Amino acid sequence: MSQPPFKRILLKLSGEVLMGQGGQPLIDPAMTARVAGEIADARGQGFELCIVVGGGNIFRGLSAAAKGFERASADYMGMLATVMNALAVQNALEQIGVETRVQSAIPMPTVCEPFIRRRAERHLEKGRVVIFAAGTGNPFFTTDTGAALRAAEMSCDALFKGTSVDGVYTADPKKDPTATRYETVGYSQVLAADLKVMDASAVALCRDNDIPIVVFNIREQGNFAHVLAGSGVATIVRNEKE
Ligand code: UDP
Repeated sequence: MSQPPFKRILLKLSGEVLMGQGGQPLIDPAMTARVAGEIADARGQGFELCIVVGGGNIFRGLSAAAKGFERASADYMGMLATVMNALAVQNALEQIGVETRVQSAIPMPTVCEPFIRRRAERHLEKGRVVIFAAGTGNPFFTTDTGAALRAAEMSCDALFKGTSVDGVYTADPKKDPTATRYETVGYSQVLAADLKVMDASAVALCRDNDIPIVVFNIREQGNFAHVLAGSGVATIVRNEKE
């Protein structure tokens, strides 16, 4: 991957990256500390960092709705789960000396700041890592879409999606041994071939705002900093004409 000319980036973390081996505990202090270490390294390289944390390790609205929960209420529960994860990531970062602020799309002023774009800008200027919680604040969305929305709103140069695979493949590499990894791939191909990078509305939002999506493995130690430095393994989703 060539050196990316990025300054301000948004990192999307799925809730699952905070989970312990085998699924317990839902928020594992060791895993959270490891992820925080990756973020601190990136911050140390001078990048301005926004983070959007998911909640799938604790609660997913869609799965709860399938079991009979009313969807909107279930989604609000999912959004509250992302606030717990955001506080866990904040705690882990502050323990290693990284200054942070959590901003929630659902205001809860005794817990964290509400989302205020201009205020988030100020935090970034001061070198703080801003963690956005509660997704978009609306049911029927996901934190992937929340990440794309915040990336556009905060004028981020790229959206980094930390996953457990090292990029986007032609097919699922766990099921198809002939699958190969893309170095770069167009938004439209991702959407047309349903390549499971992020959900379609998030990919479309990035496409419409020309925000590249960098898919990389966050579970591999040191990888985030390497990818940011242009030396790691990742796939960039962007406009084909570039
Ligand atoms: N959610 C929502 N609106 C949003 C973001 C999230 O309703 O804007 C809910 C939704 O129920 C989702 C849950 O929060 O299932 C947790 O988020 P997500 O599934 O995106 O987390 P991740 O898979 O990234 O851990």
